[in-house]
Amino acid sequence: MTDITIIGGGIVGIATAYELLRRFPGISLEVLEKESQLALHQTGRNSGVIHAGIYYAPGSLKADFCRRGLEATLRFSAEHGIAYEQPGKLLVATSPVEMERLAALEGRARTNGLAVRRVDVAELREIEPNIVGLGALLSPTTGIADYGAIVRRMAALVDELGGQVTCKAEVRNIEERANDVRITLADGSIRTTRHLVVCAGVMADRLAAMCGLGGDFAIVPFKGEYFRLAARHDHVVRHLIYPVPDPALPFLGIHLTRMIGGYVTVGPNAVLSLSREGYGKLAADLRDLRDMARFPGFWRTLRANLSSGLGEAANSAFRHHYLKACQRYCPSLELEDLLPHPPGIRAQAVLRDGTLLHDFLIRNSARTIHICNAPSPAATSAIPIAGHISDRAADAFGLKPEGALSR
Ligand SMILES: Cc1cc2nc3c(=O)[nH]c(=O)nc-3n(C[C@H](O)[C@H](O)[C@H](O)COP(=O)(O)OP(=O)(O)OC[C@H]3O[C@@H](n4cnc5c(N)ncnc54)[C@H](O)[C@@H]3O)c2cc1C
Repeated sequence: MTDITIIGGGIVGIATAYELLRRFPGISLEVLEKESQLALHQTGRNSGVIHAGIYYAPGSLKADFCRRGLEATLRFSAEHGIAYEQPGKLLVATSPVEMERLAALEGRARTNGLAVRRVDVAELREIEPNIVGLGALLSPTTGIADYGAIVRRMAALVDELGGQVTCKAEVRNIEERANDVRITLADGSIRTTRHLVVCAGVMADRLAAMCGLGGDFAIVPFKGEYFRLAARHDHVVRHLIYPVPDPALPFLGIHLTRMIGGYVTVGPNAVLSLSREGYGKLAADLRDLRDMARFPGFWRTLRANLSSGLGEAANSAFRHHYLKACQRYCPSLELEDLLPHPPGIRAQAVLRDGTLLHDFLIRNSARTIHICNAPSPAATSAIPIAGHISDRAADAFGLKPEGALSR
């Protein structure tokens, strides 16, 4: 019998394992990850940005976790010799509507306690000669990280603290009972644990449903396709360059990102994916399609976001459409500059009424805690999320600092 089992070896699961072992030394803890390596899904397939928290609704978990996550990620990377940089971010407005949205974002950023500053056309031209726009908002603290390296280091620390990380362990069923939780793996073996924390990313809704915590939301997968810019553009920008996003959507728009490794990517778009974990252009999964089709919220969100969805689909199908979106603020890019780069698939929770859930959603039963929605910036926010889950575990599971558990 393990004290705590965590499902999911992405950054949220591994950060939570590390935090629980630090706070409650002496507990037995195992992480179950279905893949042969950690961080193979969202955590290893993202933009690598350490967000500062400009966009998020004041008072939301996202705003709080992101602000604290920036500092925590920088500190962890520095302490463990993991590469990071703080080039800062420029949100560039290219139309009068976007200038209005930029003003609203500036207000929001200040309410969130962030130090941002406006950049006019002349200064924009001076600091980013390859970028055009009517104006911009500078977030000087935004950074870039190597989230895969962070996860690997945290997993080594979990091991040092006596925890166990087990890969190739796919959870197929969860049965919560009065005194324990019974977990069935794909190979038929059974694990028994006193308590369970589920950080399963794109599979969150399925695992929540196994514990009676689902049904009213579903994960809809949105693929984010990237291109890597040709090497001649490695220094095309000094900052991270973002468009001004549509406030109705949880996605930030196609941006130019300087990556750890010294190259630049452009992306991601946000196109409905026909498979939760199929990264090929035409990947489709029958179970994923069936689950989407049966969930009424999927059809409602599809209808509500039809025009932006069609735009994203066009970006995905035709490279010159994608290029146009980038050329709005970086006109020197050409079609042959867009080289292949692996896509990612976002886990986006949608409610039955079609609402795209912007904030984190965390639920618990007597013996389980489920991270039901951990969208971007959950990589930035993983360390504060882990702290929040540990607080919740202390309350719900009766954990004491010395590691004793109430049965
Ligand atoms: C395209 C894209 C760009 C992004 N850009 C950024 C960014 O720049 N900055 C930022 O902060 N965030 C970004 N994000 C968001 C961020 O990457 C995710 O929010 C974060 O990685 C979520 O981590 P996670 O651990 O919850 O999920 P994941 O990394 O997806 O991990 C979940 C794990 O659970 C495992 N699992 C699932 N089901 C089971 C099961 N039944 N049994 C065992 N294991 C299971 C999976 O195999 C997986 O390894 C981006 C995301 C995407 C997709």
